[in-house]
Amino acid sequence: MLKSELIERAASFRSAEGDPSRHLSDCPALVLNADYTPLSYYPLSLWPWQTAIKAIFLERVDVVASYAREVHSPSWTMPIPSVIALRQYVKPSEFPAFTRFNLFLRDRFSCQYCGHPGNLTFDHVVPRRLGGRTSWENVATACGPCNLKKGGRTPAQARMPLLTPPIRPTSWQLQERGKAFPPNYLHETWRDWLYWDVELEA
Ligand SMILES: [Zn+2]
Repeated sequence: MLKSELIERAASFRSAEGDPSRHLSDCPALVLNADYTPLSYYPLSLWPWQTAIKAIFLERVDVVASYAREVHSPSWTMPIPSVIALRQYVKPSEFPAFTRFNLFLRDRFSCQYCGHPGNLTFDHVVPRRLGGRTSWENVATACGPCNLKKGGRTPAQARMPLLTPPIRPTSWQLQERGKAFPPNYLHETWRDWLYWDVELEA
């Protein structure tokens, strides 16, 4: 059978009927790099099962572990992969993109003036009207009330010192930070490959 046919079939898999364990849509694969570390901690690198199975047929990944549940085509059956590893190492870029998500992650999703985790916005440390730029080094996570209170002033003028100086993080630093945010659900086969700052539930 041609590989293209296999891929075609993978896309039209029927679910194994009456499987007791999990819905197919709840069977994502944890994606590891070729060095068996997760591609990303937060958000956790997960692929839908269809994507994972296509990647298997394309020989881009190796299966590390599987769910008990299977999918099948008319001619064969395959356990749904729960952990896969890329065959080719993907080198992470040294510096992450300057995005809202990454900025919040750098600041651990908490206000950099009072530490509060809710109602988060972005604050220009040196206000734009005073020449402050929109950059890693001049934008900090701030809750709504702190942002309002600080207004168009510098931290010194407002007497609101920052809890941590805003820096441009490396990708490695952000990855490390992401380990503090474990997802609600961790399949048992994932746990050997993930290292969180907090203890896993038994
Ligand atoms: Zn605040």
